[in-house]
This record gives sequence, C-alpha cells and structure tokens, in this order.
Amino acid sequence: MNCSCGVGKRIKDFVKSALFLDFIKGMHVTLGYLFSKSITIRYPDEEKWIPYQRFRGRHTLNMTSEGKELCVACELCSKACPTDCITVIPMEDDTGIGITDRVAKVWKVDLVRCLFCGYCEDACPTRAVRLSREYELSTTDISRTKFEKRELLLPESVPEQVHGGGIAKAKFVRSKDGIKIVANLGKMKKMRW
Ligand code: SF4
Ligand code: SF4
Repeated sequence: MNCSCGVGKRIKDFVKSALFLDFIKGMHVTLGYLFSKSITIRYPDEEKWIPYQRFRGRHTLNMTSEGKELCVACELCSKACPTDCITVIPMEDDTGIGITDRVAKVWKVDLVRCLFCGYCEDACPTRAVRLSREYELSTTDISRTKFEKRELLLPESVPEQVHGGGIAKAKFVRSKDGIKIVANLGKMKKMRW
C-alpha cells in the first residue's frame, strides 16, 4: 500500500516537473501583478490616503455641539490603558466648560507608548476620547509625541461623516506654522486593494 502511494507521488512529481507546472503557476501570479492596475500612492505631495472611519490614529477629545467638553475626568481611560500612557488630572469647574462641574485639568497621552488598541475609547462613558484618523505622527522631536488637552480638543482633519477608504488629492495650504500639505476631500477616489 505504502509502496504504491510512493510510486504515485513520484509519477505525479515527475509529470509536474516535466510540464513546468510550478513555474507556470508562479509566472501566472507574477504576470497577474504585472498587468494589474498600480496601487502606488504619490504620497504626500500629490496624494493622501484617507483611512476608513474604524481607523485608530491619534486621540481627539470630543465636545458637544454647544462646544462643551465631554470629558468628565473620570480617569477610566487611563485605568483601562494597558501601557499606562494616559494621564488625567481632574478639577472642579463652575464656568460651564464641561458637561458637568468635573473636568480635566490635565489630559495627556504619550504616543510613543500607545498601542492604538482603542481600550481607552471603549472605556469612556461619555464618548469623549476617540481615536481619530490622524496618522501623520512621525517626528524627530520627542516632545511632539506627547499630546495635551488643548491640542486634542481640536477636531480631526477628516470630518466624521467622510467614509474614507480612498485617496484624496493633496493641496498646499499656508498656516501660522508654515506651509502644510492637506487632503482635498472634494477630490477623492475609492481604492479596492
Ligand atoms: S489606544 Fe490603547 S495604548 Fe493607546 S492610550 Fe488608548 S488604551 Fe492606551
Ligand atoms: S476621556 Fe472619558 S474615560 Fe477618560 S477621563 Fe475623560 S470621560 Fe473619563
């Protein structure tokens, strides 16, 4: 029984190598890629990738439509964080900047230690903290890897209603920090990977 199986396998291998079947299979894959549409993105000067809504990038702290801070400084996000990279210091406030009289005096995150796991987002009872679609975080300045409340309260550059999963044309805009390259969301094409 074993003997006949071994002979069968040897015959099969011989036929395969005589007909170059593995080579033909490999060339089929190579040629398939050669003639398929290119998915190279001319990033960042000409095009920018707009991630899907489920993407987990840099944190933002949300506000209500009336501009009140949703964070009630309960510290659940920092307790849920597996790498201990969120610091929340609460304070009492009666000026009405938040939805309650307890707001965050300090809310900061160290992105060098962040895993972008989303546990902080899941733990938040008011949906204040959210991982946005900001992914351009590389820097040579270590101080730019720590984000504080005042920066995180700014809305993300891609509005929530934009579905994403496509490539937008890039455009140059002047800001107080110099010239920035931003995505032109009006000119976006869908990509299928
Ligand atoms: S995404 Fe994960 S690792 Fe990063 S701050 Fe939130 S809980 Fe911590
Ligand atoms: S972001 Fe959410 S979980 Fe974190 S302190 Fe504020 S309210 Fe609590």
